[in-house]
Amino acid sequence: MNNECDIVKDLLFSYDEGILSNTSKEFVENHLKNCDNCKKILDEIKKQNNINDSLNEIDFLKKIKHKINKKNILLAITSIFLIIIIGVVLIYLACYMRRILITNDLKDKKKEYDNLTNYSYTLEITDKYDNSKSVDSYFVKDNEFYTEQKRYSSDGKESNEYAYCDGATDFFVEANGQRFISFNRKDEAIIGDLVPFNLTYLGKSINTYDIEKIVENSENGKEYYVITTKANNTEYYIEKDTGITVKIIDDYSIIEMSYEIGNVTDEDIVKINNNMTLKEWFWSNVNK
Ligand SMILES: [Zn+2]
Repeated sequence: MNNECDIVKDLLFSYDEGILSNTSKEFVENHLKNCDNCKKILDEIKKQNNINDSLNEIDFLKKIKHKINKKNILLAITSIFLIIIIGVVLIYLACYMRRILITNDLKDKKKEYDNLTNYSYTLEITDKYDNSKSVDSYFVKDNEFYTEQKRYSSDGKESNEYAYCDGATDFFVEANGQRFISFNRKDEAIIGDLVPFNLTYLGKSINTYDIEKIVENSENGKEYYVITTKANNTEYYIEKDTGITVKIIDDYSIIEMSYEIGNVTDEDIVKINNNMTLKEWFWSNVNK
C-alpha cells in the first residue's frame, strides 16, 4: 500500500487540476476510496489552491485600484492645466477685443475731423534731456496755413520762425530774421505737421498689433485713454469724447497739444510783418 500511496501523492496535484488521463484518474479514485491518508492530502491541496486563488484575486483588485487612482490624479492635473490655458486664452481674447473696439471708436471719431477747414492748434514740445522747448502754433483756414514756431534753448534763449503756405505747392519761411522759400513742401507739411492733432497716429502708424496696453485715466475732469505702443514705448493720451490726441510722451520728449476749432480769421493767416505775407514779401523781392 505504501508504494501505491507514493505514486498517488505524486499524481494528486495533477488530479486536482483535472489534467490526468482517464486511466490514471480511475487509478487515483480507486485508491482514495480505501486510503484516508491520501484523501486528507487531497483536501489540503484543495484548501491551499482556494487560498491561492483568493490571494490572486485580491492582488488583481489592488492593481486595478492603483491604476484607477493614478488615472484620477492624471485627469485632475490635466483638467487644471486645461482650465488655466482656457482662462489665459479668454483673458487675451477679451483684451484684444477691447483694443479693437477702442481703436475702431477712435478711428470713427477721427473721421469727424478729416474735413475740417478751420482750426488752430499748439504743440508744446519739451526735450527730456536738455529741457529745451519749442512752441509751435498752427492756424489753418480753408487751404492756407500760418505757423509760428518759437524755440527756447536750455539757457532760456528765444528764437522765432514763421512759415506760410499758400495752399498751392510753395512754402515760405522766415527764420531768425532770414527769409527763404522752399518749393513743393505743402504735401510734406500736410502729411507731417498739419494733420490736425496728430490723429493719424491711430489711423496709420498704430495698428492694434502695435499696442502694448490701453489704460483709462482721468485728469482735470476729462477722461483719457493712455495708449502705450510696443515698438518705441510711446504713450499717447487721447480724449475719450473727441478721439483727439492731447499728449505724447516718448523716450526723448513730451508733446502737449491744445486745439480750437473754427476760431481762425483771415488776419491770423496774413498778419506777418506789416501786414505783408511772406509770399508777398518773396515776390516783391523777386520782382525788384
Ligand atoms: Zn494512500
